Amino acid sequence: MLGVYVHLPFCAYLCPYCDFAKWPLRASSAARYFEALSCEIAREPRAAAATLYLGGGTPNAYDCQHIVQLLGALEDRFGVTAERSIEVNPELVRDGDLAAYRKAGIRRLSIGVQSFEPDEIRTLGRKHTGEMVGEVVAAARNAGMDSVSLDLMYGVPGQTPASWERSLRRAVGLQVDHISAYGLTVEENTPYAAWRAREPAAFFDDDREADLYAMAIDLLQAAGYQQYEVSNFARPGHQCAHNLNYWANGEYIGLGVGAASYREGVRWVHTRSLDEYLAAALEGRPVPSEAERLEGRRRAGEAMMLALRTVQGVRLADFKERYGIDVIEDYDPVVSHLALTGLLERTADTLRLTRRGRFLANDVCGAFITFE
Ligand code: SF4
Repeated sequence: MLGVYVHLPFCAYLCPYCDFAKWPLRASSAARYFEALSCEIAREPRAAAATLYLGGGTPNAYDCQHIVQLLGALEDRFGVTAERSIEVNPELVRDGDLAAYRKAGIRRLSIGVQSFEPDEIRTLGRKHTGEMVGEVVAAARNAGMDSVSLDLMYGVPGQTPASWERSLRRAVGLQVDHISAYGLTVEENTPYAAWRAREPAAFFDDDREADLYAMAIDLLQAAGYQQYEVSNFARPGHQCAHNLNYWANGEYIGLGVGAASYREGVRWVHTRSLDEYLAAALEGRPVPSEAERLEGRRRAGEAMMLALRTVQGVRLADFKERYGIDVIEDYDPVVSHLALTGLLERTADTLRLTRRGRFLANDVCGAFITFE
């Protein structure tokens, strides 16, 4: 299965916690960027993709016509057979946008919400209100979207268990199909990193954050959302196929500045310099990228890390067949230690994170990557 990801890096405003490749939106640079993308798409060999994901950045910061044309070019090159998703910021959705996306093939909408609480929205530097989110969900239904997803964030400075619960309940009350609940990560060189250096007590420690995570799991599961990955919950039939392909160590093509690809055992990541990207793509040259071939134990370790993020975990027999590795034997010291500390559990045919292990997924997965 092949997935295609397109990075649309411009935003109407920049959030202080974000370290994605993104720039403030200007009409001239957006137009150049779309031109560069169409050159890059035209250079790609034709291939049949199962999923397409337009992410960012803020894809709906652009004029809808740009997106519709882009979808046409992508469809022509990749003939997407299954899922097509787009991310939107709720306050930027204009009348008619969602119907136009739907007509151009989009069937899944992912709405960046993070919180329904006005104080937290302000702290995060976002601009929407809870009412706007409700209007966008209703508009998505009217436009005929098959799946509507919301992103929420826990561990936001100033958040409390009660305010987190209110956000979760607002999301559930909108009867969306899918909810992603991410812990805030303070990335280096962001305004949040400077804030935390000045005022560490404003940020959650692991124990308090783990409580919020546990609350999300309990509340969402009780509301009929099955957890299928560390941060992702879906009603039956609404899991995100594009992301499932990543976690299955499937192949994907990333287009645009800073985008990552993985094909035939090689992973490459495009430059995060917008100027370099634009110059190369517009001149019809390969986009400067860093590439590495993943082989042997390294490839298996990456696959383990991805599979462990899913609730199903690593299927031991499949893993042996695909990578020639007996996980239990080859990673014995890591598996034993993590099982003893209550972060991993083994069933007859799988190895998976425990509930506590899911909260510490990055540490657990890291242990497999670094094991020699
Ligand atoms: S979080 Fe989203 S909207 Fe905010 S700056 Fe990052 S990409 Fe843009």
